[in-house]
Amino acid sequence: HPQKVVLDGDAMRRTLVRIAHEIVEKHGEPDRLAIVGIHRRGAVLAARLQRLLADLLDADVPLGELDISFYRDDVATRDGGPVILASKIDFPMEGRSVVIVDDVLFTGRTVRAAIEALFDYGRPARVQLAVLADRGHRELPIRPDYVGKNLPTARSERVNVAVEELDGHDGVTITTE
Ligand code: 5GP
Ligand code: MG
Repeated sequence: HPQKVVLDGDAMRRTLVRIAHEIVEKHGEPDRLAIVGIHRRGAVLAARLQRLLADLLDADVPLGELDISFYRDDVATRDGGPVILASKIDFPMEGRSVVIVDDVLFTGRTVRAAIEALFDYGRPARVQLAVLADRGHRELPIRPDYVGKNLPTARSERVNVAVEELDGHDGVTITTE
């Protein structure tokens, strides 16, 4: 399958730095900030953003993780859809400004499930969304507050996000079926 490079490693790392700066700009009270990544590559990107933010703010920024899988035809979920498999959130949600981080935004269903899961931990003051790539095709009224790259894609295309921690290198490509 032909692959098109969208972000090489340097461009991807610069993009994360830019998003970290945007988050700092938009958060009046950085002491209330928290980052929650969506397993698996979203969580890796969230950990990177958390380190960048901690450096920029010279403060601790709580980091959490949600493991959400998308079952399109699972009888257990009736209509298919995302299921929360596990979550690691060990800070109080109440009053927090939470930034959800994922690698790719598509229909919006995973993010919707993530928002619901956050509220099981208390009532955040605000929830925002950061994604490395927005590939379009939304089925819910969800849009990212911070976007690495807008990638208009065909449904048949696939966005591949590679991260050093899991794949040995950084980068974003598009594969055409
Ligand atoms: P959604 O729930 O918005 O339909 O899909 C987003 C979730 O599915 C994200 O967690 C993302 O990791 C994954 N996803 C959807 N489309 C793609 C894609 O083209 N490439 C990658 N890497 N992940 C995708
Ligand atoms: Mg995912």
